[in-house]
Amino acid sequence: MRTVYVNGEFVAEDEAKVSIFDRGFLFADSVYEVTSVLDGKLIDFAGHCRRLRRSLRELQMTLRVSDEELLDIHRHLVEKNEIEEGLIYMQVTRGAADRDFAFPPEDTPATLVLFTQIKGLLDSPLAARGQKIFTVEDQRWGRCDIKTVQLLFPSLAKMESKSKGGDDAWLVRDGLVTEGSSNNAYIVLDNGTIVTRDLSNLILHGITRRAVLECARHLQMKVEERPFTIEEAKDAVEAFSTSASGFVCPVIEIDGTTIGSGEPGPVASKLREVYITEMRKAAI
Ligand code: PMP
Repeated sequence: MRTVYVNGEFVAEDEAKVSIFDRGFLFADSVYEVTSVLDGKLIDFAGHCRRLRRSLRELQMTLRVSDEELLDIHRHLVEKNEIEEGLIYMQVTRGAADRDFAFPPEDTPATLVLFTQIKGLLDSPLAARGQKIFTVEDQRWGRCDIKTVQLLFPSLAKMESKSKGGDDAWLVRDGLVTEGSSNNAYIVLDNGTIVTRDLSNLILHGITRRAVLECARHLQMKVEERPFTIEEAKDAVEAFSTSASGFVCPVIEIDGTTIGSGEPGPVASKLREVYITEMRKAAI
């Protein structure tokens, strides 16, 4: 049985309670972060904290728990649950109040919940095989840069891809790829240039995206941050996605078209290797 964290307390998972009046439950009025654990250490914790604070600020949500306290909670859960490899999920909501579209009073305490999940991340069968992607019209709201728990549309998109035999969906808005259902999307052109959507309100500013692009630049790989079409993606020599739990994950097929050789490509494989090495070195 796992130990989880709820509002200041470490409790057994079957004793954890959140109110039915919680605005996370009623309005998806809530943000979250998922941090990977390798070798019992946190990967890019500072990046996740920074983005959490930004999400909170954008929604005028107040969390009276410092980054140092969040780090202590994360570390305690890793230790208590003996997580060598896996994830920590952290969610903050605007708290519990009578149901009303207007926000509750400022002094309503936020709800803070964290739990761990054991998961093999390094030896990923999907990364070894490469993903099959189907594209889906991006029907999410206009603030995809805020990491809210409104995940129904990405969940539907992933299921649509799975129903066709795919592994994941890439979302397309106005004919241009935004990102994956829960990851950022990349293609590699035949001149070796890596192309990924530029940062805006239409995509999540991935913590892994930032680190992987830095690795790419260190490796003297050329990077272009701009929109691309599905046609351009199908003509690419490689494609891949990035996320905190998937690291760099190759794509071998888009809407039934084979990408490059149909096997994980050298750019994605190199970036996966370098990213994992660098992040393990810097883990805390
Ligand atoms: N885009 C979306 C829509 C996501 O849900 C995620 C995963 N949280 C990402 C991108 C990747 O972000 P990160 O690298 O911070 O996990």
